[in-house]
Amino acid sequence: MIIDTHSHIYMDEDYADDKAEVVERLKTAGVGKVILPNVDLSTIPQMHALADTDTDLFSCAMGLHPTEVKEDWQNVLDEMFTYLPQRKYCALGEIGIDLYWEDDFRDIQIKAFEQQVDVAIQNNLPIIIHQRKALDECTASLKKFDKSKLHGVFHCFTGNIHEAEQMMKLGDFVLGIGGVVTFKNAGVAAAVKDIPLDRIVLETDSPYLAPVPKRGQRNETAFITYTAAKVAEIKEMDVDAVAEATSKNAMEMFGL
Ligand SMILES: [Zn+2]
Repeated sequence: MIIDTHSHIYMDEDYADDKAEVVERLKTAGVGKVILPNVDLSTIPQMHALADTDTDLFSCAMGLHPTEVKEDWQNVLDEMFTYLPQRKYCALGEIGIDLYWEDDFRDIQIKAFEQQVDVAIQNNLPIIIHQRKALDECTASLKKFDKSKLHGVFHCFTGNIHEAEQMMKLGDFVLGIGGVVTFKNAGVAAAVKDIPLDRIVLETDSPYLAPVPKRGQRNETAFITYTAAKVAEIKEMDVDAVAEATSKNAMEMFGL
């Protein structure tokens, strides 16, 4: 059984015509659980709708994605937090800091991130972190909190072993390995060799970052088998053993 710890296959925009087929294909591929992280207010009904079709298969994470943090962020978060007592969420996510495109919203991204980390701690939930060109900022934010209460995943890990170690030192954190690990010349493959298997979970980040040989196409959760195979190749292990170990890590981290 494989677990996809990060998938947006609920999004109407990207899976308008074939959501049911995408779900069938992931089951055929051996995926037993899928975490659906939220993006903004508009994606909440889409996420809940897909999750309600199969509550054993899907788990939702509630949160505001850093690239969607705008001037109205406090009102957005206040509304999001009202959902938390209403149903089961496996994490706060995806949350974080993204300084890749522009940093006009840098200060409010940091405020929104820290507030969501605080709420995760209050609810004893793990966090799904999205950071891009912002590891130092994320580190500074997380260091403001009690390390013993911080747990979760640095999703879409593409860094080197030093960055992996920096992340793992911040609390009980695992690293989300996705399609990038299959890309030619991807430095992350070298890091994956050195990261202990009990600190790795698998993900697709669908619809983005499809693994080779689907690179460039719309990604979907079934393609996680290519990523699992690549991690097995790097670790010189059997793919079933990688699937089993990473699924165990995901179940323990997210209480699945
Ligand atoms: Zn995502």
